[in-house]
Amino acid sequence: EMTSTEEFIELSERRSAHNYHPLPIVIHEAQGAWVTDVEGKRFLDCLSGYSSLNFGHGNPKIIGAAQEQLAKLTLTSRAFFHDQFAAFAAGLGDLTGKDMVLPMNTGAEAVETAIKVARKWGYEVKGVAAEQANIIVMEDNFHGRTTTVISFSTDPDAHDGFGPYTPGFKIVKYGSIEAIREAVDGNTVAVLLEPIQGEAGVLVPPDGYLTQVRELCSAENILMIADEIQSGLGRTGDTFACDHEGVVPDIYVLGKALGGGVVPVSAITANEDVLGVIKPGQHGSTFGGNPLACAVATTVIEILNTGEYQTRAKELGAVLHERLRALVGQGVVAVRGRGLWAGVDIDPSLATGREISKALMRRGVLAKDTHGSTIRLAPPIVVSEEDLLWAVDQLADALKEY
Ligand code: PLP
Repeated sequence: EMTSTEEFIELSERRSAHNYHPLPIVIHEAQGAWVTDVEGKRFLDCLSGYSSLNFGHGNPKIIGAAQEQLAKLTLTSRAFFHDQFAAFAAGLGDLTGKDMVLPMNTGAEAVETAIKVARKWGYEVKGVAAEQANIIVMEDNFHGRTTTVISFSTDPDAHDGFGPYTPGFKIVKYGSIEAIREAVDGNTVAVLLEPIQGEAGVLVPPDGYLTQVRELCSAENILMIADEIQSGLGRTGDTFACDHEGVVPDIYVLGKALGGGVVPVSAITANEDVLGVIKPGQHGSTFGGNPLACAVATTVIEILNTGEYQTRAKELGAVLHERLRALVGQGVVAVRGRGLWAGVDIDPSLATGREISKALMRRGVLAKDTHGSTIRLAPPIVVSEEDLLWAVDQLADALKEY
């Protein structure tokens, strides 16, 4: 029987594709903001499964709903209705202020869904000639790993070597309304963006940008698609990152925390004039909108409707950002983010992001580097203020090692 970290890692690496480069920890269990590894050592989770665990590991309400549903009904396929679906659809529609939802499982599938819907809307509603639709996307985007989605990635690791690529995308500079304006033509059906770019390093666009995108899309009869898979559902201190500017996109793309850290649940939501273009047989997924997923997601929506987590992310976020800003000049060159979400650029002359992630791990904090020298901090929103400050102290101390 395997017991040591080394044994688990050796077998995992030998028998699985090396499509990730994990930190050398083997997690066994978790509660709240803390995980415990196979050797009994505890770590503060400052990644939250890339913001999938916003409501904490083992959240009692979410686990309770999952257990109750597990005992009753887990899968029907969409060949039939089931009794968890209606409340989920209405609840998510209401949370986003939209008429309709289309559930899938993973984030990338929801992005694919938004792309298909936008194209169909373009042909059937906007009147774009067949096969001519284009969608404007952003440099340094991250929307998932499927062939169409990586077709418009500007990250060579994500993109190169996987062609031929899906056409119909125009890539422009993120944060520049002028760049979008120049790219728009009569065949443009959508602008797809992350309101804050997560994988790119928690890049926050200039103030007013989302408002400008909204206005441009409305003026030009183009759908604004907000990929809120990582930025949404409480993380930034609002329900959606677009709320910061009071912007309402035509299509919300949601995932990650929608599944409460228990099951993969993703969805897009939109009004009937948009989502109504999809007819039976044109899109779907065997597991999309299954009873277990719906029961969990409905509980997540109930939690978000209280507003407690949004408020907590805002308050703890203010503390986090104040403490992190104090590290600028102490091994940190820049800090970005909003709410309980930060991208911390480490001085590249000191250490790589991975070295700092490992140093943090030795000190009991789990965080992951992104793009060379950036550390992303996104603890579960249930984290205590004391633990959060302790984590920042660990970062300060880790930086002093270099
Ligand atoms: N979109 C955004 C903004 C993301 O951050 C991610 C995942 O990191 C995805 C899409 C893809 O989600 P998934 O990994 O569930 O396919």
